[in-house]
Amino acid sequence: MIDTTVQKRIYLSSPHMSGNEQKYIKEAFETNWIAPLGPNVDAFERDIAAYTGVNEAAAVSSGTAAIHLALSLLGIEKGDTVFCSTLTFIASANPILYLGAEPVFIDSEPETWNMSPQALEKAFRDAASKGKLPKAVIVVNLYGQSAKVDELTALCDQYEVPMIEDAAESLGSSYKGKPSGSFGRFGIFSFNGNKIITTSGGGMLVSNDTEAIYRARFLATQARDPAPHYQHSKIGYNYRMSNILAGIGRAQLEVLEERVEARRAIFKRYQQELSSIPGIQFMPELNHTYSNRWLTAMTIDEKEAGITVSELIEGLAAENIEARPVWKPLHMQPLFEGAKYFKHSEKKSVSDQLFANGICLPSGSNMEELDQTRVINCIKTIINVKEVERQIV
Ligand SMILES: *Cc1c(COP(=O)(O)O)cnc(C)c1O
Repeated sequence: MIDTTVQKRIYLSSPHMSGNEQKYIKEAFETNWIAPLGPNVDAFERDIAAYTGVNEAAAVSSGTAAIHLALSLLGIEKGDTVFCSTLTFIASANPILYLGAEPVFIDSEPETWNMSPQALEKAFRDAASKGKLPKAVIVVNLYGQSAKVDELTALCDQYEVPMIEDAAESLGSSYKGKPSGSFGRFGIFSFNGNKIITTSGGGMLVSNDTEAIYRARFLATQARDPAPHYQHSKIGYNYRMSNILAGIGRAQLEVLEERVEARRAIFKRYQQELSSIPGIQFMPELNHTYSNRWLTAMTIDEKEAGITVSELIEGLAAENIEARPVWKPLHMQPLFEGAKYFKHSEKKSVSDQLFANGICLPSGSNMEELDQTRVINCIKTIINVKEVERQIV
């Protein structure tokens, strides 16, 4: 029997197909390109390279694989250090460990929630004074918001350390009119099921360094030497994207602009409806940047709003609505216990505060207007009920 008291589940961010995916999948079947190579892979790479304005792109099995390849291409090995944004998903830093290198985490700053140039500068100075600079800096664009690219690039250039732009969450965003993902020595994208466009699972490594991307394709196919027999002189991986999944990606990329607009509209509506509630503040959008607003994120000041993030998440869960805290900073993860961490300022760790007060609301581009109304009304009700409870006490 169907329980009519339980309303349809509203997800944080679920896959949103365009309809054209089947066309490319069908082509793959008809031509029997059922392999981690083929015409869809080539076309998807060309399309992403053109969209992001870079010279070359390599389609791989995940965003994590793309980061792993970028680090491998930069020659990172055991004992090296790599700087990385702390406020991010674990996948940004796991590949550092795959290579036996050591991560050093860099705090966020309040205007973008992304890597603080101030903290990065401190970390560079410290590293230089010890005579051991990092081999790379991984900069994340959280929830679609570009980091302060100019400031961060200037510091990386000054110390001659290459930057990897983790644009897993920011495909379709831009910084000063230039596409997200196109700024570092390497950029990476993810097409996991929850991302703004998806291939169910997949990723892309992009760069203006054409040779490096050829090399990435080589490493991603078991590093097979050009010999008629099976010969290998380097460690390789099995990281290429399936031609079927690349077909999904092609169709998804065709509607990326629409998806960005839908997510931005969702953000705007939340902001209009909820920002008058005391203690609620939305993730900012830095001047001269355009965010894809992958997820609508906001902070709740418990003292002013009278409710904690976990209370709100639990309240929404009871209504079958999925909301999540912002990423738990990596310097707080048990996996990275003992790792070095550089704060935005002596007194303040911005990422700790964002983690304590931050929440992500359902933001899927396939959310109907009524779904969003339901989320908004639930949030208002939960906060009002809390308010009444407090007055009774
Ligand atoms: C999703 C994500 C990744 C990893 O992508 P996968 O395709 O899931 O491996 C990396 N970094 C960030 C910031 C992400 O959100």
